[in-house]
Amino acid sequence: MSKVIVIGGGAAGMMAAVQAAAKGHKVLLLEKNEKLGKKLYITGKGRCNLTNACDTEDLFQYVMRGRKFLYSAFYSFTNTQVIEFFESHGLSTKTERGGRVFPESDHSSDVIRTLQQALQKAGVNVCLHTQVQEILTEEGRGVTGVRLSHGAVWEADGVIVATGGCSYVSTGSTGDGYRFATEMGHKVTELRPSLVPFEAAEPWVKELQGLSLRNITVRIKKEQKILYEEFGEMLFTHYGVSGPLFLSASSVVNDAMDGMPLSVEIDLKPALTFEQLDKRILRDFEENKNRQFKNGVQKLFPGKLFPVIVSLSNIHPEKKINEITKEERQGFTKLIKSFPLTLTGFRDFNEAIITRGGVAIKEINPSTLESKLVQGLYFAGEVLDLDALTGGFNLQIAWSTGYLAGDSVR
Ligand SMILES: Cc1cc2nc3c(=O)[nH]c(=O)nc-3n(C[C@H](O)[C@H](O)[C@H](O)COP(=O)(O)OP(=O)(O)OC[C@H]3O[C@@H](n4cnc5c(N)ncnc54)[C@H](O)[C@@H]3O)c2cc1C
Repeated sequence: MSKVIVIGGGAAGMMAAVQAAAKGHKVLLLEKNEKLGKKLYITGKGRCNLTNACDTEDLFQYVMRGRKFLYSAFYSFTNTQVIEFFESHGLSTKTERGGRVFPESDHSSDVIRTLQQALQKAGVNVCLHTQVQEILTEEGRGVTGVRLSHGAVWEADGVIVATGGCSYVSTGSTGDGYRFATEMGHKVTELRPSLVPFEAAEPWVKELQGLSLRNITVRIKKEQKILYEEFGEMLFTHYGVSGPLFLSASSVVNDAMDGMPLSVEIDLKPALTFEQLDKRILRDFEENKNRQFKNGVQKLFPGKLFPVIVSLSNIHPEKKINEITKEERQGFTKLIKSFPLTLTGFRDFNEAIITRGGVAIKEINPSTLESKLVQGLYFAGEVLDLDALTGGFNLQIAWSTGYLAGDSVR
């Protein structure tokens, strides 16, 4: 039996502690907050999308960085095993659209409660209000323990760092793990907010604040190259755009954002071709031919969007519909098929679902999650340079890497 310290009582740390205890180790879980799982509590809008019920093999396609590295972790503790783990500890789950798995109760607090019970059952000693300041090592021996912020030294044969990233700082993710890693000689790759809303240049986005558009296609381009194109749902905010499509896009176009705004085309009617939409507008125009333009095409869009579209159309709002030329009408159709927007940057870490970048995975053994540089030092969860799209995949990374680190620690 070894003494194991797990730093961080989030998803990865709790799972690591349960598994290390199941392997017979004496486990201390240290969390600086007053309670466990503060970030877990706010996941999935308070419902916690805890994993995805896709085929295990398909998990990899939703991982943006670190796919190959995750092979052992995902197969050591698959998404099916995650669901079984929670069910066997008394948490009923349900699967929703897109394979997203939630607790049946729709309460993330039930996920946290289940983990707390599992920790207790496994005999893990949980210490709250306990902040680790430093990881201690000895030449030739590797890890020897940790020093707490109030100076006390606690010894350990193995230390698992599960301190998370640096988004939503109020949940405890202050990036301490990156400092620990650097102090141990590890490289930390560039940290960036990801799954994060965008800022837009157009002043009228403010007028659309709160408007959610469903069943649209978003195309993001750098000059003529399409970087991202997906069908789904988006949201206008007072500074730009958010919602599932743009959050996912932030993960895909991250590097391209450097030094250059990106142009967006929103197809507001993707189910219709240009010709079909043009015919439909022509029909609407014929039915309303004696009305003014601003009063004749309202059926096509949500109310809030309408004044913006009219103002961008180059057709005077008070022009009689029967005076609109074919060119003007086709320009209007084109506007609906490629409504323009300019992305100027990302919102900051405090609005980011995850941190992109982290402890460089080439210095970590993927089969054990032990550091290749320091014996007895392990990393799990978001602190590693791994990230995935929304849909339960980031928590799956936390559970799988937590489990594997807990299972491997000696
Ligand atoms: C708003 C929001 C919604 C999300 N929704 C989902 C979702 O529905 N599905 C999904 O898959 N993912 C979701 N995510 C992402 C997911 O929450 C994270 O990827 C996941 O929580 C990472 O787990 P972790 O254990 O690595 O880190 P964390 O959960 O951040 O846990 C790290 C813990 O370490 C503690 N800690 C840090 N430093 C120290 C120290 N020095 N000493 C002691 N303790 C320390 C922190 O207090 C914290 O409790 C969401 C994220 C956000 C912000």
